[in-house]
Amino acid sequence: MNKENHSESKISVRERRLLVIACSAVLILIVITAALWPNSQEKPQVIPLSEVAAEIAGGRVTRIVDSLNGRLTITAADGKTVIAQRDPNASLLEQLHLLGLTESQLTGVQFEMAQTSVSPAASPLGLLLIAGLIGSVVFFTYRYNTADRSRSKTFQAADVPDIRFKDIAGLDDHLQELRDVVSFLKDGERFADMGARMPRGVLMVGDPGTGKTLIAKAVAGEAGVPFFATSGSEFTEVFVGVGASRIRSLFQKARKKAPCIVFIDEIDAVGRARRRSESGAEMEQDQTLNQLLVEMDGFSPSDGIIVLAATNRVDVLDPALTRPGRFDRNIYINRPDLKGREEILKIHAQGKKLSPEVDLLAVARATPGLVGADLANIVNEAAINAVRCGHSCIEMSDFEEAVEKQIAGGVQRKSHVMSLDEKRIVAYHEAGHAVVIHHTELSDPVVKISIIPRGQAGGYTLAVPDHDQMLISRCKMLAKITGLMGGRAAEEIFLQDITSGASNDLEVATRLAEDMVTRLGMDARTGLRVFQASGERSLLAFQGSQKTCENIDQAVHEILESCYEEARRILTTHRDQVEQIAQELLETETMDRERFLQIMGQPLAA
Ligand code: ATP
Repeated sequence: MNKENHSESKISVRERRLLVIACSAVLILIVITAALWPNSQEKPQVIPLSEVAAEIAGGRVTRIVDSLNGRLTITAADGKTVIAQRDPNASLLEQLHLLGLTESQLTGVQFEMAQTSVSPAASPLGLLLIAGLIGSVVFFTYRYNTADRSRSKTFQAADVPDIRFKDIAGLDDHLQELRDVVSFLKDGERFADMGARMPRGVLMVGDPGTGKTLIAKAVAGEAGVPFFATSGSEFTEVFVGVGASRIRSLFQKARKKAPCIVFIDEIDAVGRARRRSESGAEMEQDQTLNQLLVEMDGFSPSDGIIVLAATNRVDVLDPALTRPGRFDRNIYINRPDLKGREEILKIHAQGKKLSPEVDLLAVARATPGLVGADLANIVNEAAINAVRCGHSCIEMSDFEEAVEKQIAGGVQRKSHVMSLDEKRIVAYHEAGHAVVIHHTELSDPVVKISIIPRGQAGGYTLAVPDHDQMLISRCKMLAKITGLMGGRAAEEIFLQDITSGASNDLEVATRLAEDMVTRLGMDARTGLRVFQASGERSLLAFQGSQKTCENIDQAVHEILESCYEEARRILTTHRDQVEQIAQELLETETMDRERFLQIMGQPLAA
């Protein structure tokens, strides 16, 4: 890392030097040109047009060369040349007639037209532009080459990673599939004897942070082979052919170090379906992808190169990439379940000073939907929090703070001083969420309410499911939207005004309602048709009839309105509970599950 930075800074110093040299050269060129310019051409005398007319009348002019910009070069009978300027908007003859010359006086003069095309190099400014242009081309070519060289260096720096399968938790099934790859890399001959062909490529599909890079490193680590890591975005370039040449150079290097693993992260950046377009950027992308396909066809199983690629957009990949013979093994990596989360937490807690009262299963329970990267971060944040609070070891409260920071976003802004009015609004807003969630069937249980600002939020209500869920029902989605509406409804009922505090709630609720209507076929009017592909958040590409668009609008609107009405109904029925929670929050700022259930009249069983 340090080494890389060092070389990067070295490059930038060289670049700066090159720039200084180029600028100095241009300046010297200008000074020299400016110094020599007046002497480089003998300047003829300039006379007014009336004087020209007098000279013609006296029969002392033999030739006039007229240029488009009105500049006249006049040759006298004695061979001398003078310059004059006519009005460029009127012809020379017209102007001479106006000055009193007759046709007969003009007969002895030879008139010629000259094109005034001044060479750009014929002036200091022109020279400056040319020099600047050449300088820029030289500079950018140099920059481009150094960037390319430094990228090649990244490909070269392939070591055997020290990560093993034991460092990965909760993904045992996937690791089982990859054990074959490890055995093949370790002992390819045994497979060859049996006539078995190993996959050339393994595609790992999963959300960001689910551990795809970690798995790729562990495969190389287990097999004890070098690991070439790169990302699809490294191959996306403006100049056609550059990405393809980088792919070639990557595989050349890999061949020299085989057996080895080539890992391409974000392969969708380079492997998107080809569109047969003539635009430069798309031609470049097509060429890069073609090169990747050629390289993957080019190595035989005995070469011992396996390409592992990762993406979270398998739907956009070119079919040529995913056909058998290229990435013929797909591994779908899901978000970890409860047990998986606990194991991941345990791995990251290894070597850290944990208090005996820390219950990692409880932490795992409080973090449904989070991925390995989030959990690794939670353990680290808990450790940082323990140091910050002066604890001798990491306590459960440090984990609770880390989880809340991860889920609610941002650290608690205890120093942020809220006005009393603001505090009141937040207290009723959060009390509204909590009461609506509690009284809505299928909602997740409320575990904490706080009016201490955290990240962007003024306060937060945490409702965490008891168990992991793969599927989410229509009623559950409606319950979620109703809970989200609780804050705004409480503001309206208890404060007789509404604030911007509900902006995020409304955004999330709208997205959920749109998903129900346009993606999940959960609305009777729009039926089972899917209007947006998963991962696509825009309806702009939708080409349906005007009536269908109106139906979608209407359906989304109705879902939001009916959930809002339901939230209002719950809050008016349970006014006293909202009041009590809000008042307590104003005093204590946070409320835990136990106290909340007491107020709801359902104390926790001891
Ligand atoms: P992206 O798609 O954003 O590149 P990714 O899926 O490649 O993400 P990784 O970079 O592999 O995710 O994971 C990030 C970090 O999360 C790892 O370095 C590791 O600390 C932790 N992590 C993720 N999954 C696991 C796991 N199953 N077991 C242990 N640690 C994990």
